Amino acid sequence: MAEETIFSKIIRREIPADIIYQDDLVTAFRDISPQAPTHILIIPNVLIPTVNDVTTDHEIALGRLFTVAAKIAKEEGVAEDGYRLIMNCNRHSGQEVFHIHMHLVGGRPLGPLLA
Ligand code: 5GP
Repeated sequence: MAEETIFSKIIRREIPADIIYQDDLVTAFRDISPQAPTHILIIPNVLIPTVNDVTTDHEIALGRLFTVAAKIAKEEGVAEDGYRLIMNCNRHSGQEVFHIHMHLVGGRPLGPLLA
């Protein structure tokens, strides 16, 4: 059984977060330490620690991450100029929270993919 992270508490609204979208499958909230004018995390409500733990059972929830990302990008006004979706996996990527999350970053030119 995977260990819960702070993101499970955010999903259950047990700790404060700037939640901008939630449904039965996913939750989206502003990153506490934004790296760009728009920096939102979109996460499945079910706990999946890393991309390595993804199974076919998760396909509907993970597909929802993208439809919600597109909706939020429009609402945030970054869809036209563009934005980046990032999902880190394990040590070499710098993953810090082991509940998979899609970063939606935009609002300025983002530079090269890998610094
Ligand atoms: P990772 O490096 O795992 O891909 O990204 C984790 C992200 O979660 C970081 O951008 C970090 O700022 C964000 N984060 C960590 N703890 C919290 C929290 O308690 N609330 C919010 N809103 N974001 C968090």
